Amino acid sequence: MFKALILTQNEGKTVAEVRQLEVADLPEGEVLVDVAYSSLNYKDGLAVTGTGKIIRNFPMVPGIDLAGTVVESASDRFQPGDAVILTGWGVGERYWGGYAQKARVKANWLVPMPLGLDARKAMIIGTAGFTAMLCVMTLEDAGVKPDSGKVLVTGAAGGVGSIAVQLLAGRGYHVTAVTGRPDSHDFLRKLGAEDFISREEMAQPARPLESQRWAGAVDVVGGDILARVLAEMDYNGAVAACGLANSFKLNTTVMPFILRNVSLRGADSVSCPQERRTRAWELLAAELPESAYTDIGQAIALEDIPQAAGDILAGKVQGRTLIDLS
Ligand code: NDP
Repeated sequence: MFKALILTQNEGKTVAEVRQLEVADLPEGEVLVDVAYSSLNYKDGLAVTGTGKIIRNFPMVPGIDLAGTVVESASDRFQPGDAVILTGWGVGERYWGGYAQKARVKANWLVPMPLGLDARKAMIIGTAGFTAMLCVMTLEDAGVKPDSGKVLVTGAAGGVGSIAVQLLAGRGYHVTAVTGRPDSHDFLRKLGAEDFISREEMAQPARPLESQRWAGAVDVVGGDILARVLAEMDYNGAVAACGLANSFKLNTTVMPFILRNVSLRGADSVSCPQERRTRAWELLAAELPESAYTDIGQAIALEDIPQAAGDILAGKVQGRTLIDLS
């Protein structure tokens, strides 16, 4: 028997409860994993509270991230005892996910644990950190370099934002953080942010072109804030957009694109191809300092997830939240 958080529907409402399951209850798959840690992402918050239409089939084990050890494998790629990471691929959305002590999954969803990481560290990073690295890679693919100018990170005190700040500062960028929480400034300064702009100021309506301020930007919020970011980009600047914490809408003009050669690039963690995925994990393992695993996270149990899911949607969670399944 093992413990899992199960989501069911009752009169159209999503109900989350911890239950005991048997291995035979798990869906079919090639690899059985003993899950050591999972994590809490914004999307998990939407799924567990039933706020977004993330989950369509019930009962469901949510949790878009997991890390642990292979117990059984029908694939040549993995042997019992291998340490593995899983993020994305619809796990915790369409397929049973990481909020359980065991998971049975497809072999090609798994990434071997990179040298230098373990399950706990990998889940402090999780989808949020993986996405932050994809955004940094996306900016550099677009030609942004540390000496190009200042870079901006929105939603900076959240999971993706806080790791993006840390990665960019670690690569030598001058990072400006946009946050709605002034009490996060000390936390963000420790991660490498050099100056701050309030969420309110960035949400002010922008003209089609504003003064040029940013060589690059990582945007996790969308909406009016992303519209202002685009209007403030330097000539040749690039924005990596990955989120919608403010809004999925974008009301902008073509001016930054046609007059300043600005590019707006997307970053998707769910279906990211295997080669880029493995590269991103290796870079995360190499670049994040030891302090990333001590200063950035808090650990909670399966039973605490429903409360924490509400908190992340309310913008109350700072940094990353780890789920300890031991
Ligand atoms: P968090 O909740 O940890 O971080 C989001 C941050 O955005 C908050 O901490 C807050 O930062 C800011 N924020 C919250 N609400 C608002 C608002 N109404 N207006 C402006 N800013 C706001 O979430 P994650 O970091 O896990 O995810 C961030 C976003 O990225 C989400 O939209 C998520 O869906 C998306 N995402 C996308 C992925 C992809 O593959 N494309 C993968 C992972 C995440 P502060 O307090 O500093 O203002």
